[in-house]
Amino acid sequence: MTKFGTAIFTEMTLLAQEHEAINLGQGAPDTEGPAVIHEAAIEAIRRGKNQYAPDRGTLVLREAIAQHQRHHYGIELDPETQIQASAGATEALCASIMSLCEPGDEVIVLEPYFDVYPAIIELAQGKLVPLRLNAPDYEVDEAKLCAAVTERTKLILVNTPHNPTGHLMTRDELEAIARVAIEYDLTVITDEVYEHLTFDGREHTPIASLPGMFERTLTISSSGKTFSTTGWKIGWFSGPEHLVEAAGLVKQYLTFSNGHPFQYGIARGLTLPDAEFHAIRDRLRQQRDLLVPSLERAGFGIMAADAGYFVSVDVAPLGYTDSYEFCRELPAKAGVAAIPMIPFYTDASGAESLVRFAFCKRPEVMIEAGKRLEKAFG
Ligand code: PMP
Ligand code: GLN
Repeated sequence: MTKFGTAIFTEMTLLAQEHEAINLGQGAPDTEGPAVIHEAAIEAIRRGKNQYAPDRGTLVLREAIAQHQRHHYGIELDPETQIQASAGATEALCASIMSLCEPGDEVIVLEPYFDVYPAIIELAQGKLVPLRLNAPDYEVDEAKLCAAVTERTKLILVNTPHNPTGHLMTRDELEAIARVAIEYDLTVITDEVYEHLTFDGREHTPIASLPGMFERTLTISSSGKTFSTTGWKIGWFSGPEHLVEAAGLVKQYLTFSNGHPFQYGIARGLTLPDAEFHAIRDRLRQQRDLLVPSLERAGFGIMAADAGYFVSVDVAPLGYTDSYEFCRELPAKAGVAAIPMIPFYTDASGAESLVRFAFCKRPEVMIEAGKRLEKAFG
């Protein structure tokens, strides 16, 4: 694992701290989610839910996940056999990839990718096969996806809404992936942690809701992004019993169980009325709309941010060819930190100048960051 070195999020956060810069690197919100979620967790602590949770997750949480999937997507799940709680989406990814990928198996991964994916595939002794999503629209190309499939392909790892690009997959893209998965009998793992954070009237479609896909899809999500509880590390996976059971087997020996009182808090969150989810995403959209015009005025090349926490930009118009170099200079130069996208590629050729900014910060922070960037580059 030494080749993976220090995570880029750690490196850039340390740099931000050193220069007291506004940290638009790591995707960590600076506002609190709905207070009822906190109250439910506090109440669970007071009620003595302080010992190990059941290894599958407390039934209250699994029932809330089932209700959430039914209400938002029309997906029916049995809380007893088709849902498993995990220590964030990260453990869900780890358990599912380690259980479903045998040494030498190939995993097709949308590139650029969240940094955890290649590290977990390495732990599973699998082989990451990148499927490049190209700026500015980052759409999945069905012909390229078909071309990436070999006899060793076992899994397609989907992530929508997508980190780091902010791309929300359309139904056409998801149908293309579904066609390939069905034709070549592949299993899909889908990371949907930003599922509620969609903008401008767009809605997230889980690939598991497409015809013929439930049986071959393991769906992963997490409470961290939706409810501003990244520090609670409550995630989950769901799908057909054979896949949940397989990944659950590995999960048992990673953490066994996790975050008992927090699970009650998140169960409360998942069953909140739609208006609460809409308020969360509308606030985030406002924050995006405070940052993006400043980035434009400062001269960055901007890609659309349909969903999630991030906007990707091109720093080439500012005279930089290397996003690493740009991000290492940025905190000292502008008092802002961002993330270079180079580490999210197997081979970043043609994408070396892409940078990710997070907009999950308070409006006044977005305005101040925008001002600083305009002053430094505009
Ligand atoms: N997947 C994606 C795409 C992410 O951006 C993140 C970061 N939150 C995770 C998974 C990890 O989620 P968690 O913090 O719940 O482990
Ligand atoms: N998912 C968050 C991001 O992409 C946090 C990642 C991390 O800190 N490991 O910024």
